[in-house]
Amino acid sequence: LPELPEVETVARQLRSEIRDRTIERVSIVDNLLQFPARHTKTLRGARIREVSRFGKQVALEVHRPGEATHWLLVHLRMTGRLMWFAADGPAPGYRSQPRARLHLSGGELWFSDTRRFGTFTLTTNLQDHKKWQLDPILDKLTPRGLSLQLADSQQEIKAWLLRQDRLVGIGNIYASEILYNAGLHPQRTAASLEHEEIGRLCSAIRKVLQAAIRHCGTTFSDFQDSRGEVGGYQRFLKVYQRQSEACGRCGGEILRIVQQQRSTFFCADCQG
Ligand SMILES: [Zn+2]
Repeated sequence: LPELPEVETVARQLRSEIRDRTIERVSIVDNLLQFPARHTKTLRGARIREVSRFGKQVALEVHRPGEATHWLLVHLRMTGRLMWFAADGPAPGYRSQPRARLHLSGGELWFSDTRRFGTFTLTTNLQDHKKWQLDPILDKLTPRGLSLQLADSQQEIKAWLLRQDRLVGIGNIYASEILYNAGLHPQRTAASLEHEEIGRLCSAIRKVLQAAIRHCGTTFSDFQDSRGEVGGYQRFLKVYQRQSEACGRCGGEILRIVQQQRSTFFCADCQG
C-alpha cells in the first residue's frame, strides 16, 4: 500500500516528465473508474501546470485559458500506478492494461491498477478534499502542533499514527519505523506522551519519511514508481518485518505484535 513517501516519489518523477505538457484527450478504459465524460471534456486541451502530492493522492493542476484551474486527483489505493511513456507509448509486449490513458503532447500517461480500487477526482477546490489536520512533510510539523493533536486521544500511539484524519500518509510500514526511531512503545496511549517524547516523535516522523523519500519509497509487493522501478528504502528498515532478528541498536530481539489486526514490529528494550 503506497504511503506518503511512495506517493511523493511518483509525484516528483511525474513532475519532471509531464509538467507543461498539454492534455490532448483522455480515454477512460475502465468504467468502474466512474469518471464522467464531461470531466474528460474539461481536461481536453488543458495544460498541466504542476504535479504534486495532495495527502496520499497525486494531484495534476491543469489549466485552460479563461477557465478556472482544475485539479485531477489520482488515488493509487493498493495497486494503482501512473506510468509515463514518451512518444510512442510502451514497448511492444508491455502487458499491463491501463484503466485510463491520458494522451499528452509528446507521450502518454497510463493509469494501471490491477485491484481497481484507485480513483480519479476532478475538482476546482482542493480544500474541499482535505480531510486531514496535518501533512507531516508539507505542514512544518512541530512538537507543539503535534501535542495539540495527541492530547485528547486515548488510542494507542501506533493506531493513532495510522489515522488519516490527523496526520495524513503514514501507514503500517512507517508507523513501526517511526516509533522505533523515537524509542516509543507502540502500545503507549497517545495522550500519555510527555513533552520530550513528543519532541522525539516529531523528529522521528520527519526523519523517517524524508529518508524514505530520498530513497524513492519502500517496495514490498506492488509499488513501482512512474518509471516502473522499485523503491530502495526497504534496505534501511530497522524493524518492519524483522521479527526475531537482532535490534541494530541494542542487540535485543525484535518482536511482532498485532494491533487493530495489523502487525507492529518493535524492540521492547529500546522502546520500553
Ligand atoms: Zn533495541
